[in-house]
Amino acid sequence: MQKLFAVIGDPIAHSMSPLMHNDLFGVYGINAHYHPLLVKKESLQEAVAGLKAIGISGFNVTVPHKERIIPFLDYVDPLAGSIGAVNTVVNKEGKLHGYNTDGTGYVAGLQAALPEFKNKRTLIIGAGGAARGIYFALAAAGLQHIDLCNRTAEKAELIKNECPYEVQTTVYSKDMAEKELSQYGLIIQTTPIGMSAASQGLPLSLQRLDSKTFVSDIIYNPLYSPFLLQAQKAGAEIQNGLPMFVYQGALAFELWTGIKPDTNRMKKLVLSHLGG
Ligand code: NAP
Repeated sequence: MQKLFAVIGDPIAHSMSPLMHNDLFGVYGINAHYHPLLVKKESLQEAVAGLKAIGISGFNVTVPHKERIIPFLDYVDPLAGSIGAVNTVVNKEGKLHGYNTDGTGYVAGLQAALPEFKNKRTLIIGAGGAARGIYFALAAAGLQHIDLCNRTAEKAELIKNECPYEVQTTVYSKDMAEKELSQYGLIIQTTPIGMSAASQGLPLSLQRLDSKTFVSDIIYNPLYSPFLLQAQKAGAEIQNGLPMFVYQGALAFELWTGIKPDTNRMKKLVLSHLGG
């Protein structure tokens, strides 16, 4: 019988996960299909119970359900539990197991481009859900020094205080981060600034950027945010959010099937749909 996979969220029509996973099922000869499912906030509990009842094999979870789904699962992996968010669910003999591959996906994409990332003094800009997953996954991977800078400083303080892994962190204001900028070997931009015409500009000035700094922005649509383009102009090596998106999907696919998929193929497929 054909296995069923899905992604649940609201909105969901824009998701490129069905494209990526259905292609992989074809490539690896797996009789399965991956559907996008629109699930409203107020229907989450019912939707999860329904997916479990029909024996879904696994599903992804996206905005706005990543945090709120946790009480409806049978087991939550320790990293996902400490982050407080789940983006991948695996049905193991009728029990729903939750994982978070967003942060580990980011780290896998970074490792591929910057293998020596653990020695880099790092600044994360933003302290939302994505920043939290990335901070915890980088700390779990052994990165020693990660500073945070966010419009709402309390959210950055929470990330620092709730992280179960040993890591040195200072929470900086925008002004202080701009002054310290040349000290960083790695800068990770995680706010939505630059994603749409309504949110243009830079989250902070790159005037003091060192040209040896590796600059990453997790936005992938557009492929190159104004922040990344400015960093590139200053001579820095840059990475957009496409590797994070591809690797979080690859890690989810591996949790479901045991197969490490071809990430180059996945990247090309998504790129072709983004017009890149
Ligand atoms: P989120 O939880 O809403 O957090 C957004 C963060 O950005 C918060 O820290 C917020 O600051 C800050 N921010 C928003 N607008 C700002 C502004 N105008 N000025 C200064 N700071 C601002 O969102 P998220 O889930 O972390 O997602 C953030 C971005 O990452 C989105 O663009 C999303 O598309 C992208 N993303 C990419 C991937 C990928 O696979 N590449 C995966 C997940 C997310 P406050 O705390 O002060 O509100």
